[in-house]
Amino acid sequence: MSIDDTRIEGIGITSRKVREKLIAELQRQGITDQQVLNALLTVPRHLFVSDALAHRAYENTSLPISYNQTISQPYIVALMTSSVLLDAGTLKKTLEIGTGSGYQTAILAQFSNRVYTLERIKGLQDSARQLLEQLHLKNIVYSHRDGVDGWAEEAPFDAILVTAAAWSNVMVETLKTQLKTGGRLVIPFGPPNNQQLHLITRKQQDAWEDRVIARVRFVPVLSGISMS
Ligand code: SAH
Repeated sequence: MSIDDTRIEGIGITSRKVREKLIAELQRQGITDQQVLNALLTVPRHLFVSDALAHRAYENTSLPISYNQTISQPYIVALMTSSVLLDAGTLKKTLEIGTGSGYQTAILAQFSNRVYTLERIKGLQDSARQLLEQLHLKNIVYSHRDGVDGWAEEAPFDAILVTAAAWSNVMVETLKTQLKTGGRLVIPFGPPNNQQLHLITRKQQDAWEDRVIARVRFVPVLSGISMS
């Protein structure tokens, strides 16, 4: 599923030039996967933030969205996506925990046959879903639930991305078992001022490799669901 880049308007804050500047910055920061760079060029990030912040949508920074959450920084979205993709090119089943604005979901939808996305705040997931449907992204399955337990009924996954910081080893252990052999989990872990992004690969049925790939700052994983 890809977004037609004729949608990119020629002028103003959403112009190709502004987006290309962001892509050049991501390349300078070490993102080399052309497919991922192209996805960040074509997915209209300004639609995933409020009108008041749209002029900052192509800055390489996280921005506030509603319900005290944040849309992740483009560099982190690119890093997480290229880490789970590696040379695979396409993923069959991808799980995202923390739909939020839906931006990372839209990026993942470019590389996955199907993206399963979980969110604990109903209002956030409803608006993300509405926007992703408007963008004609049809290969996404939504669930309003607590992502601490992953999505056992749909496991195993080729890739799992967690877009809020985990604090519990139990959550990490649960998600590890929901990976296919060869599958990858990318998850921020740790307290607010000391989080690290882990890339965990399931090497064999009972063997995982765990590497720290960046220091990061994410909103925390919260348990339970919110109906509003
Ligand atoms: N990928 C999103 C990031 C949003 S911030 C984006 O780019 O916009 C992280 C999101 O994780 C928030 O929306 C938050 O509500 C959600 N979250 C936190 N804990 C969760 C949990 N236990 N289950 C599901 N979603 C959770």
